[in-house]
Amino acid sequence: MRIVSRVAAMQKLALRCKRAGTRIGLVPTMGYLHAGHLSLVQRARRAVGKNGVVVVSIFVNPTQFGPKEDFSRYPRDLKRDLKLCRGAGVDVVFTPGDKEMYPRQGEAADEAAREDARPTAKCSTYVVEERLSQTMEGAARPTHFRGVTTVVAKLFNLVQPEVAVFGQKDFQQAVIIQRMVADLNFPVKIIIAPTVREADGLAMSSRNQYLVGDLRRQAAVLWCAIQMARATVKKLRTFPAVKLKVAVKKLVACEPDTRLDYVEFFEPEPPTPVAEVTRGTHMALAVYIGKTRLIDNARI
Ligand code: AMP
Repeated sequence: MRIVSRVAAMQKLALRCKRAGTRIGLVPTMGYLHAGHLSLVQRARRAVGKNGVVVVSIFVNPTQFGPKEDFSRYPRDLKRDLKLCRGAGVDVVFTPGDKEMYPRQGEAADEAAREDARPTAKCSTYVVEERLSQTMEGAARPTHFRGVTTVVAKLFNLVQPEVAVFGQKDFQQAVIIQRMVADLNFPVKIIIAPTVREADGLAMSSRNQYLVGDLRRQAAVLWCAIQMARATVKKLRTFPAVKLKVAVKKLVACEPDTRLDYVEFFEPEPPTPVAEVTRGTHMALAVYIGKTRLIDNARI
């Protein structure tokens, strides 16, 4: 397994693979890997075959965090991640530093920096999806998807993958990337892989690390809410979204340290809110468990 930390080295390696006709599969991550990430690695391997090259990028991307979010305390353990990647048969781990990915950060504060409410901007060119990123996570975290699309576009340019695998866990992110790829003609096939869950239904996430003591038990409430919505639709076939939202809010409030940020019911393609929830409707929610904000989604 090769570990690449320089942008120039990654580009060189990618171009060499391209010239040799080797297929490249990319799995972008922020590290602190878990079984969810590793399932994406398996999916990428399946897509490129045993002669292809599976690249995992590990980069905690500062531009997708808001100024009051958990960028500095986001869990990091590169040694452990590398071990997991080796075990999963990854060919290349691309692990650039902050300055490597955003070499011009720290330049004089400009318009973008003021908008960010940060002392300096990380870069001055961004990729912005303007439609699908207005709701749910985009409404709750205004500069989040701009950071995601920008870093993923950069990774696509650096790694030159034929396929890239994203998790359904971040459903809105995955459809925004699909839209970006279509709008900007990236020659990349986007695969969306299913969410991997803990035994109690909690979606695996690097942020689950923050859940200490009873908070970990309470976090199962996101999955309970999804199950409750499913049971309702199974029984009644169709149910008003407004009423189901109230029921979800009540369910979440049963736990002492939780707060519902949002719950949405929508048709998945393209994500469009619905008034009536039926089989096939998609549900997404964000819940604070103590100070930790978790998201989940599923087809109802
Ligand atoms: P992250 O490191 O959290 O940015 O996630 C990197 C990729 O892994 C994203 O495409 C996520 O959607 C995906 N992912 C995260 N958690 C899971 C999970 N529990 N199951 C499947 N994919 C996941």
